[in-house]
Amino acid sequence: MKIVKYPHPALRTAAQPVTAIDKEVQLAAGRMLDLMYSAAGLGLAAPQVNLGYQLLVMNFEGDPERKDAECVAINPVIVESKGSINDREGCLSFPGLYQNVRRAKSVKVQAYNLKGELYEMTCSDLPARVWQHEIDHLQGVLFIDKMGPLGKLGSKRDIDKFIADFEKDKKKGEIDANLIPKL
Ligand SMILES: [Zn+2]
Repeated sequence: MKIVKYPHPALRTAAQPVTAIDKEVQLAAGRMLDLMYSAAGLGLAAPQVNLGYQLLVMNFEGDPERKDAECVAINPVIVESKGSINDREGCLSFPGLYQNVRRAKSVKVQAYNLKGELYEMTCSDLPARVWQHEIDHLQGVLFIDKMGPLGKLGSKRDIDKFIADFEKDKKKGEIDANLIPKL
């Protein structure tokens, strides 16, 4: 398992809901947490590791020691959002790119945990931003889509570089573009 970078097609594919929380999903969540921590990220969505189902892992402190800040979400939905705030954001599929993105200030989300229990969480600011960013990934929506005109302009050089690198890797046969569905 590895983190795919933009413009890998998995990042633009809507993920399917998980219908059974089995060993496969539990294993994937554990490996995604490991990957997220080793990349020093706050969140990782299944499409970012080429998996085609609705699974997220997050740690709102970005600290593997802080298990209380760790969160696994299956089939998550935002049920309420309030306010608006513009702040800096990055993405593990766009290493080194940071731009301001406008998001809701607070959200209420519902998701299933690895035991199959439905839970609800209300949060604001950074955790709310992480939830919105990761849930977007499940719809094939990326933070570059949500940037304002200045952010888009400021990202152009990085994005062109990601595209050029991706084309190079593809020519070398290093891109596996087949999204792995949940069986
Ligand atoms: Zn991301």
